[in-house]
Amino acid sequence: LTTDGRVCEHLFVTGDATILHADLDAFFAAVEQRDDPSLRGRPVIVGIGVVMCASYEARARGVRGAMGGSEARRLCPDAVFVAPRLSAYTEASKAVFEVFDDTTPFVEGISVDEAFLDVGGLRRIAGTPEEIAVRLRRDVRSRVGLPISVGVARTKFLAKVASAVSKPDGLMVVPPGDELAFLHPLPIERVWGIGAKTAAKLHARGIHRVSDIAAMPEDALVAMLGTGPGRHIHALAHNRDARPVRTGRRRRSIGSQRALGRSPRTAPALDAVLVGLVDRVTRRLRAARRVGRTVMLRLRFDDFTRATRSHTLDQPTADTSTILWIARGLLAASMPRIGRDGVTLVGLTIANLDDDGVVQLMLPFHHRGPVDGVLDDVKDKFGTAALTRAVLLGRDEGIEMPRLPD
Ligand SMILES: [Mg+2]
Repeated sequence: LTTDGRVCEHLFVTGDATILHADLDAFFAAVEQRDDPSLRGRPVIVGIGVVMCASYEARARGVRGAMGGSEARRLCPDAVFVAPRLSAYTEASKAVFEVFDDTTPFVEGISVDEAFLDVGGLRRIAGTPEEIAVRLRRDVRSRVGLPISVGVARTKFLAKVASAVSKPDGLMVVPPGDELAFLHPLPIERVWGIGAKTAAKLHARGIHRVSDIAAMPEDALVAMLGTGPGRHIHALAHNRDARPVRTGRRRRSIGSQRALGRSPRTAPALDAVLVGLVDRVTRRLRAARRVGRTVMLRLRFDDFTRATRSHTLDQPTADTSTILWIARGLLAASMPRIGRDGVTLVGLTIANLDDDGVVQLMLPFHHRGPVDGVLDDVKDKFGTAALTRAVLLGRDEGIEMPRLPD
């Protein structure tokens, strides 16, 4: 807990392998291959003077990151060099983190294409860590169009090693009983903190595998590498890594949006879409133990212009009926424009988020009314399709879309 009472760190002390390390494969090159089908299956190098990222086809020829452009061209003369498109990568990164955030409230971003996720405690809601990892990889593929590798283990260190070993487009689960059998045969370069210089020092003493390090007393490593690195590397060689997944990155909003199909956009049809969005977003709010004050309705029109309408409450809430009531008001206010310009996408975002602990003092604004609680429990147990509102029966709810950047 932070001084102001926020939960910023989270550790399930169980014997289970519940930490996922998810890492996109050759991220920038994969975005280029996604967006230009003529690049698929070919060696692609992002960066002109220096290699920022090489596709797996180029890596197979020896091309590496940070290599000079001329050396890369010599190794792989048929490579296609592409100038980086940072905005495309940023957008893809946001969409991938959206999938992470949909998977668990406990996400620790490491870089634009990499994160730790703790899925402990989600078994009843979402399945085993392995099932969650399978779904995560499928969702990133279908919602963002990119391959991602996932390692699952009891420690962050081992999860990261497992995702690296599983690449490309892989999944590797290391059960607690198999940890050292998996880790010890690996080359020492797999250990976090062993860079080229340290590796050279160790190789000079005949130390090549993680098992060689594990067999050494800690003192000997400390004498060789210094106190900090020696202890650190000794601990990792025994898979001792107590660092929890830190969810320092606070989400500022939770939202969802739907592209509308070709069905007529009558007022009842739009209301059904809105009800579906409110159900989904408020359920995610409650699952993340968050409440929000600002309800934002986002619309996209036939000519691709956009509009946002919002309303800010005095008190934060995650209550479905309160948020639905406000969202309906915002939609009603937008109906003249919708009638004139047509609507192709409806989004709902709750912003100004807070942790739900703050509301307990603010009765009668229940953050999770009794009905919402029962609905959440039924959906947790039997799936989201188990219960639906009468207004949604037989209705086209639209196609769920990855959220666009704010
Ligand atoms: Mg990566």
